[in-house]
Amino acid sequence: MSGRRLPYFEEHTEPMATRIATGLHKIALAMKQQAWQQANQEGLSATQGQILAELVAHGPLTGSELSERLGITLPTISDSARVLVEKSLVTKSKDPRHPRASLLTPTKKGATLGARARSWPEFMAAAVQDLTPEEQRAFFSGVVKTIRNLQDQGLIPVSGMCVTCTHFRPNVRAGASPHHCAFVDAPLASEQLRLDCPEHERAPETTRSAIWAQFLRPG
Ligand code: SF4
Repeated sequence: MSGRRLPYFEEHTEPMATRIATGLHKIALAMKQQAWQQANQEGLSATQGQILAELVAHGPLTGSELSERLGITLPTISDSARVLVEKSLVTKSKDPRHPRASLLTPTKKGATLGARARSWPEFMAAAVQDLTPEEQRAFFSGVVKTIRNLQDQGLIPVSGMCVTCTHFRPNVRAGASPHHCAFVDAPLASEQLRLDCPEHERAPETTRSAIWAQFLRPG
């Protein structure tokens, strides 16, 4: 009778996608915990650290721009920015592009803390370092596709990634570096794609779809 039953784990294993989601959830919790701890050591909240890191990476930004880039609501950004100004970590000035908006700029001390906050996720890089080059390539490809999917659903801000950039020309040539960045006029390989490029310029939605379709079409 027992010979007719399926092996135990064929009956009792969740689909791969579900187990990947469980794994990502564990990783996300570790990242959140690390960010909280590191922020705490610097006397900041995790959001304040994210704001400083973003201002260091991209230069002065308005509250709305920060909200869009970080995927954090504008009221939360405004509250954190007010505290950063009170702590003399950020200054506010008129935005010459929009007279009614204010630009946030890190002070010298704010820039130092922001540079440190940019290194908060580095413990993850150390963990990934142990994967083989093939595993890293497969992981990176999965990360790019998963982020792109979540961007499509409006769950991650559309910023920083080559595959949504107006300068990106996917699969324009054969060989190891099939893509092209028109901004710097240089070829790039799939494993060289940027996830947080300061020069990223968001392509219009229809162009983004065309870029993605072309990216998925090899050769
Ligand atoms: S500008 Fe940056 S994001 Fe855009 S294609 Fe070039 S490297 Fe990628």
